Amino acid sequence: MTIPIARTMTSMEQEAARLLGAVKARMAQTAKIADRAAEGTTLIAISKTRVAEDIRPLIAAGQRAFGENRVQEAQDKWPALKAETPDIALHLVGQLQSNKAEDAVALFDVIHSVDRASLIAALAKAQEKLGRIPSCYMQVNIGEESQKGGCAIADLAPLLATARTAGLNIVGLMAVPPDDVEAAPYFALLAKFARDHGLDRLSMGMSGDFETAIMLGATEIRVGTALFGARDQV
Ligand SMILES: *Cc1c(COP(=O)(O)O)cnc(C)c1O
Repeated sequence: MTIPIARTMTSMEQEAARLLGAVKARMAQTAKIADRAAEGTTLIAISKTRVAEDIRPLIAAGQRAFGENRVQEAQDKWPALKAETPDIALHLVGQLQSNKAEDAVALFDVIHSVDRASLIAALAKAQEKLGRIPSCYMQVNIGEESQKGGCAIADLAPLLATARTAGLNIVGLMAVPPDDVEAAPYFALLAKFARDHGLDRLSMGMSGDFETAIMLGATEIRVGTALFGARDQV
């Protein structure tokens, strides 16, 4: 008779479970203070620059939503990881070039960075060709910073109309507030725009400010360093 031996957790799996538990506890605590349901916010683990060996322990710890900022990098690592764990949801959170729209629609379940008419047209064409309709967020350049992605605030209403006409499934708004200033006013402004446009999902908040984002209504937070440690490249 053979006795099954339970596989023990590796030290990397223990560390991933510890970091995930810590972020989840902070999310739950904040939801309680904000009188929101803990399930009202989805944690997206931002795995940009991390190799598959760094990502697998977090999957083993139960994490299922992941985000990347580059299409090519995601194509290199995610098809194999998704084959191992089919219920993973993959999110694109970085700027998207129109010539990568088809690759993005093929690989990602959710695209957070829709921000211009040419990209909307390319995504619509890819959706038609592939018969796949990812959920999309319109990214807003909430601090009006020239180096950041996202549409100008003044362009939000016409772009939403364009996206809806083109057949995109726009579910909410996404933003990355300016660095080194209090994020709360920007999160509050994004939440107001979402309300104004009848959108109920808000992708906002990163490792340094996700509790503030949850207080102000985030339904998706995008967390990298708090789950994986500091990145040595960007
Ligand atoms: C890298 C990145 C994040 C995660 O940032 P951390 O500070 O590591 O949590 C979130 N959103 C976007 C768009 C990113 O590029």
